[in-house]
Amino acid sequence: MGEQRDIASGGYAMDAPPDGNDGGCACGAVRFRVQGEHVRSGVCHCMTCRKAHASPFNAFVIYPRDRVLFTGALREWQSSPEYARAFCPACGSRVCGLTEDEVELSMGSFDAVGRFVPQYESWIGRREPWVAPLDVPQNTGNHD
Ligand SMILES: [Zn+2]
Ligand SMILES: [Zn+2]
Repeated sequence: MGEQRDIASGGYAMDAPPDGNDGGCACGAVRFRVQGEHVRSGVCHCMTCRKAHASPFNAFVIYPRDRVLFTGALREWQSSPEYARAFCPACGSRVCGLTEDEVELSMGSFDAVGRFVPQYESWIGRREPWVAPLDVPQNTGNHD
């Protein structure tokens, strides 16, 4: 289990009215706000995402790390050398994945519905047979 730490970087006000850029964990102990447009978005069917999210797939949105402000403490699990998966230690909700320069936010962590659509799918060999392919690029492995 990763060391608990607060990854809030500061610099953005958290008191602006809701505009679709806010999200958080199920219990509310962890909150985040994004600034500007996302880099890319997708759906991953890989086995680690299945397990980590306890869900048949992971829908995610990627932002530059310096465009996401967090409040509240996250705990991390290093699922690969360059990639940590972070969750709220109070309620266990998965919130994001972290690389050195990007944050992969779970689409379901956002407060607003319909804010994002996936732009590609990854690891489609693990896709559940009852999940229809989206009309987006289909990758057998990771997004290039
Ligand atoms: Zn929580
Ligand atoms: Zn995955």
